[in-house]
Parts: sequence; C-alpha cells; structure tokens
Amino acid sequence: MDLGLQGRKAIVCAASKGLGKACAMSLAMNGVDVVITARTRADLEAAAAEIRKASGAKVTVVAGDITTEAGRAAALAACPEPDILVNNAGGPPRGDFRDWGRDDWMKAVDANMITPILMIKAVVDGMIARKFGRIVNITSISVKSPISELGLSNGARAGLTGFVGGLARQVAQHNVTINGLLPGAFLTDRLRSGIAEAARQTSRPADEIIAERARRTPAGRIGNPAEFGEACAFLCAASSGYIVGQNLLLDGGAFNSTMG
Ligand code: NAD
Repeated sequence: MDLGLQGRKAIVCAASKGLGKACAMSLAMNGVDVVITARTRADLEAAAAEIRKASGAKVTVVAGDITTEAGRAAALAACPEPDILVNNAGGPPRGDFRDWGRDDWMKAVDANMITPILMIKAVVDGMIARKFGRIVNITSISVKSPISELGLSNGARAGLTGFVGGLARQVAQHNVTINGLLPGAFLTDRLRSGIAEAARQTSRPADEIIAERARRTPAGRIGNPAEFGEACAFLCAASSGYIVGQNLLLDGGAFNSTMG
C-alpha cells in the first residue's frame, strides 16, 4: 500500500529507542524525511544510522529534552514546517499516589500532557495553512484501562486525550488530523525495566514474567515495536484524513470489551 507520504517531513519526539524509533523507521521507509529527538546524542546517532541504512531517507538528529522549552525549540528549528508530528516522551514512574507530591504531578503532566500540547500549538497552524497535517500522540492503554501503579500516567495522558478530542475536531476540515496511538505491552526498554522491577519484587525470573504476560494476552505474545511503527505510518497516510480524534489501541486484545 502506497501511503502517499513520499517527500513529507516529520518530527518524531523521543525516538532513539522503542516505540518512537519504530514510528520514525516506518515513516522513513515510506519516504518521509525525519527529525528524531532524544536526550542522549550517542543513542540518537545509532538510531539515525539504522534508519538511514534501512530506508535511505534523510534523518536529522536533535539532542535535547523534549519536555523543556529549549528541547522543543531545537526540534522545531530543525524542522519548522513539519507535515507530521509524532508526540512521545518517557513515561512517568510507577508508585503509590500517597508518595507523590506536587513536583511529581507537575513532571508527569509536563511530559505527557503539556509538552505534546505545546508541540501541537507550534505546528498546527502551519499544517492548516498547507492543508496537510498528521499528528499522532503516543499515549498508553492506561487511557482506557487505568493501571493502578501508574496513576501519574493514567491522569496526565487522560488530560491530553481530552484536550485533543476537542482540538482534533476543530482542525479536521483542513486535512489536519490528530489521533492517539495507545500501546499495550511492547517489548522495549521501558517494558523491560518494569519487568525487571517486578522480577526483583517477586524473586521470579524476568523471562517467566514476560511469558506469563504473553499468555494472558489474547494474541499470545508481547507486541513488537515495528508493528506499532506501521500503525503510526498508516495514521499519517495521505488517505487517512477521515480518521479524526481516534484512540487506536494496540494491545493484542488485552483490553477486554465488546467494541472500541
Ligand atoms: P523506551 O524507554 O523504550 O524509549 C523511550 C524513548 O524516549 C527513548 O528514545 C528515550 O531516550 C526517549 N525519551 C525519554 N524521555 C525523553 C525526553 N524527556 N526528551 C526526549 N526524549 C526522551 O520507551 P517506550 O516503551 O518506547 O515508550 C514510549 C512511550 O510509550 C512512553 O511514554 C511509555 O510510557 C509509553 N508506553 C509504553 C508501553 C510499552 O509497552 N512499551 C506501554 C504503554 C505506554
């Protein structure tokens, strides 16, 4: 399927590893020039080399923390008129809400709600003027099905999803779409660190915990980040302009419901 994205430009935030990197790879494989950001330059350079080698696309790296003003400005300076924006950042820590103070909440809301909103604000009017824009927010299954120990994620991402639900419907008439991609369990560093923590707490081998999680998932396995990247590219396709304000769950069927 030709996604009609040849020659388009994208900013993919937090993309040296995991789901962000997979999104950048899939976009690049479809002819998109990508600017990828992350805090550690060495990891970014390694990701960029891998994406360039696989796709032949132009890949520009911007080292910086996307949750800061400077980090966002650097990303936007490298690509002032993106056709595609993929919002992503590290997820907040697990824990008990009794241990979290205002600073913990502000950090989570900053990274997983305000940062994507400010990035959208910076690019959306240009997209409207050019009559093409695709914005994808990487959120979490926690938006639909709260994860008890991830209260910071449940709260902050629900805030982003609520805001975007309204904005998506204001910009859709200009062929600018904003949608959420909700990962269930995907085998990335983030998932591995969560499993390692669970293994420490329960004195069980990490492999056993992963296998059990896979068994509990209707698909019988943990997700592969490359599958997530392909879904992102599909939402960005030229022909996806009628997919507006949706929240697409990629979880192998883990969320149990009759529909949606
Ligand atoms: P990951 O740890 O594998 O990769 C995160 C990437 O983001 C890395 O490239 C890292 O360098 C970059 N990054 C983190 N904080 C950043 C910042 N402030 N500025 C710039 N770059 C930053 O994580 P992942 O599994 O790919 O997760 C991506 C997002 O999806 C996270 O918010 C995570 O909470 C969420 N999520 C992941 C899963 C999963 O199973 N992997 C499930 C639900 C939600």
